[in-house]
Amino acid sequence: MQVVVLSESAVDETVVRILVRALLPRDAEFVEPTIRHRGVDFLLRGGFRSLALATFYQGSADGLACVVDADMTPPHEERNARWSPQSGGLADLQACSDRCRLCYLRRQWAASGLARRPRPKGSPPLRVALGLAVPSIEAWLLAGSQFHVTEAAWRNYAASQKQSYNNLAKQRVFSDLRGIDKKAERAEQRIEAILESAGWQQLQRLFPDGFGAFVRDLQRWR
Ligand SMILES: [Zn+2]
Repeated sequence: MQVVVLSESAVDETVVRILVRALLPRDAEFVEPTIRHRGVDFLLRGGFRSLALATFYQGSADGLACVVDADMTPPHEERNARWSPQSGGLADLQACSDRCRLCYLRRQWAASGLARRPRPKGSPPLRVALGLAVPSIEAWLLAGSQFHVTEAAWRNYAASQKQSYNNLAKQRVFSDLRGIDKKAERAEQRIEAILESAGWQQLQRLFPDGFGAFVRDLQRWR
């Protein structure tokens, strides 16, 4: 199964690829997106939809997996949302909040109408999996460490606590490492260690909405 992974940086994409491989029942091969993308602002301001359309029409990929950081925006709440990656359009979607970044991505997917559009040569429709790291992918990488946070705890943090956690999370993961390659290597070691010791289920327990959403979408790819 060929998968395009989109996230905020090459380091984040390394983590998402490892998670996709751990969660998918079939072997995943990764292919590059057909157009270049840069950062979270691009993805949120319509870039995700453009990339989804480009993948649909030009690419050979079977699925698209995208994770962005919540940073200081509201964490996603699945119980207030109505979503199916196979849903037909915007009318079928209910966002949990106006500022939720995961729901921004879902809205773009629903608006694209790609979920039900037949693909050339009788291939199955393009699949999608969307996740939100609360507050950042670094927080996932800190799962089980003394610096870990949960989505539930995060919701109760004061704004100043959130800001300082978010500022320190990168430093706690990468210390003073410089360069994308070294950071990607550290990120890979961390996520592999989490998967080996406690499995992706630990991430789902700590981050049931933002990571849980990603898991549930991927599980529908079978
Ligand atoms: Zn949401």
